[in-house]
Amino acid sequence: MARAYNFCSGPAMLPTEVLQQAQQELLDFRGSGASIMEVSHRGDTFVEVYEQAVKDLRDLMRIPNDYEVLFLQGGATQQFFTIPMNLLSDGKVGNYLITGQWSKKAIAAAKKYGQVHVAASTEDENFTRAPRQDEIQLSDNAAYLHYTPNETIGGVEFDYIPQVDVPLIADMSSTILSRPIDVSKFGIIYAGAQKNIGPSGLVVMIIRKDLLGLVDGLPNVFDFAEVAKNDSMINTPPTFSIYLAGLVFKWLKRQGGVDAMAKVNQRKAEKLYQAIDGSHFFSNPIAPESRSWMNVPFVLADESLNSTFLTQAEDAGLLTLQGHRSVGGMRASIYNAMPEAGVDALIDFIHAFEKKYA
Ligand code: PMP
Repeated sequence: MARAYNFCSGPAMLPTEVLQQAQQELLDFRGSGASIMEVSHRGDTFVEVYEQAVKDLRDLMRIPNDYEVLFLQGGATQQFFTIPMNLLSDGKVGNYLITGQWSKKAIAAAKKYGQVHVAASTEDENFTRAPRQDEIQLSDNAAYLHYTPNETIGGVEFDYIPQVDVPLIADMSSTILSRPIDVSKFGIIYAGAQKNIGPSGLVVMIIRKDLLGLVDGLPNVFDFAEVAKNDSMINTPPTFSIYLAGLVFKWLKRQGGVDAMAKVNQRKAEKLYQAIDGSHFFSNPIAPESRSWMNVPFVLADESLNSTFLTQAEDAGLLTLQGHRSVGGMRASIYNAMPEAGVDALIDFIHAFEKKYA
């Protein structure tokens, strides 16, 4: 069996150990005689898996007791809509930091539910950096400030948590669990699972309890208060995805938790940026203080070599290095499950490619 290094932005690599465990347990889950996919979500077997996953996530992220952990469906995209639905009460204004394509999608969704305000944007600098704290200007009557701590496509990451006196909402899809964060600084943290957590479709949300139930009359499956009241099981939840997320949480604990992951992730990113910066052949346009640890976009000085680079990388077992279709070039997504050896292999490949074609 050969597992390649897969640099896909999502769905992304999962730890091999986790996939092996899932394989081993697939037909007969821990002596139950059935797959975890085949048992009732209301039964003891699954409820135990669910409760353990919530507990492990709470431990890993040190989630305070005044926060609920929700497992949602519909991807992070659905939450672009459900968040303003749940929070824009009484003519309040959704405030947004615009740092790339995902935050633009989030604000576009919110416009359908109420007023929005751009509290800062770096669009006129082509999203090559995150805005500074002193550039953030909230509107009157702000319900919240939403931002994207890591823009997966552009590779722009905030190196600080914005400080505002309204609830802070973070789309952490591509950075959750990559390092420790202080959950108490946030009103809502949410993340599509397919990068650092597990299979796509599942969304993890961490929501401060005082933000539940602000708007009446919502469809129950979109109402965070109702979801919380029903332990994320108003209807049948994505049981296999929750199980797999739970295995990833256990794996993270075995690695030493998010503190240990942060050290490895920082080292992986720094050496890759060093290789890119040290080359005349490759470059990355993002301001150093805003460079993502998770998604590293880069371009070749001679773009006509892009497809040669990608084909030869694939032959060398380095998969899915093409940049997002909207920006082109290359992008290496190096989430938690990308081993450091994968980044080393990519760096060796970058050096060899430059030697051959420069
Ligand atoms: N936000 C961010 C930061 C993302 O990277 C993505 C997906 N790449 C999304 C939202 C959308 O996630 P989903 O496809 O799960 O809706």
